[in-house]
Amino acid sequence: MKVIQIREGKERSLLRRHPWVFQGSIASGKADLGETVRVQSHDGQFLAWAAYSPNSQIRVRAWSFDEGERIDRAFFRRRIEQAVAVRARMAVPSNGVRLLHGEADGLPGLVVDRYDDTLSVQFLSSGVERWKDVIADELLAVTGCTRIFERSDASVRQLEGLPSVTGWLRGDGSTVITLQEHRWHLRVDVAEGHKTGYYLDQRDNRALFADMVRQYGCKQVLNCFSYTGGFSVAALAGGAQEVWSVDSSAPALARAVEHVALNGFEAERHHAVDADVNALLRQHLKEGRRFDAIVLDPPKLAPTAAHAERAARAYKDINRLGLMLLNEGGLLLSFSCSGGISADLFHKIVAGAGMDAKVDAYLLRRLEAGSDHPTTLTFPEGEYLKGLALLRR
Ligand code: SAH
Repeated sequence: MKVIQIREGKERSLLRRHPWVFQGSIASGKADLGETVRVQSHDGQFLAWAAYSPNSQIRVRAWSFDEGERIDRAFFRRRIEQAVAVRARMAVPSNGVRLLHGEADGLPGLVVDRYDDTLSVQFLSSGVERWKDVIADELLAVTGCTRIFERSDASVRQLEGLPSVTGWLRGDGSTVITLQEHRWHLRVDVAEGHKTGYYLDQRDNRALFADMVRQYGCKQVLNCFSYTGGFSVAALAGGAQEVWSVDSSAPALARAVEHVALNGFEAERHHAVDADVNALLRQHLKEGRRFDAIVLDPPKLAPTAAHAERAARAYKDINRLGLMLLNEGGLLLSFSCSGGISADLFHKIVAGAGMDAKVDAYLLRRLEAGSDHPTTLTFPEGEYLKGLALLRR
């Protein structure tokens, strides 16, 4: 077993069970891509069993902090069983569930979403890449699913020096799956959809939006960055008269139109708008348009803290426009899925947007991802999705 020695004083985060070691903290040792290594302190004390990533700044990701634990098939079986069992206890109101959420479930770099009978999986680190076949077999054995579609096409693979890979890993057939979420049905394409196919992390917030649209009597609803219209279906279910789904992806909008029909809503109540949200919001402002509810769910603008400043300006701008476009008493659901922007910072950004817009709002709720996208006490970096539900004063 190869040994990675940590620089004196740099072992603290591993001792606190944080799973990452950066290149700069390593005194000596090298291994192959994804190889299991023993990580130890400068004086030889065991710290962790880990996977080695020769090309990444995050050079080592811990599998286990227990010296007696072996990293083998049974280890992956245990971790998968534990993650799946906890999801069952979470009683997710959908047949679409995130079964494994990387570091939070003790398997750094592994993302597994279940869509009905199909698993859609991302292998995002050298460690899980090396154990891919074992993980695939154990996933099928534990879940009883029959098919795995691989979506290892996220850009973080490049940082690991791994190629982009997509396609059936186990089983085959149609890549389009009918997802039931709350009382809605949606069609998810695990091959063509974003990420693993769909944004499961917004499930709870869609249900909340439906409730709020009903409670506050919102009639005209603007869903910005709508993707396939999850929040639009929620708004219609909540009694909205008219909903606009705005996105720059034509295939996503085509699905949104399909979803309105699939859930039994009249086509006239929904408008699919293929546009740049930034330009459209400005145009609406110029024309004096107003809405009763607006959703802002932009893509990740700040993947890391280094992008935070530029992203902050972009978030502030769309939130300023969003607040100005609300009728008095109108509802704004505003999100950031940027790991580089903390919940506190996001709150400050939106507060700044309110100042610029000369609009005040009640903070009804702070929002986050569903509990099947967990963070843990030892891995705060796992917290990426944050949002605010605001009611214009
Ligand atoms: N709210 C969605 C997820 C949004 S993901 C849901 O609940 O499922 C972000 C979306 O923003 C993507 O669909 C992407 O196509 C779209 N997008 C990115 N930049 C955009 C822009 N400038 N204008 C309009 N849409 C954009």
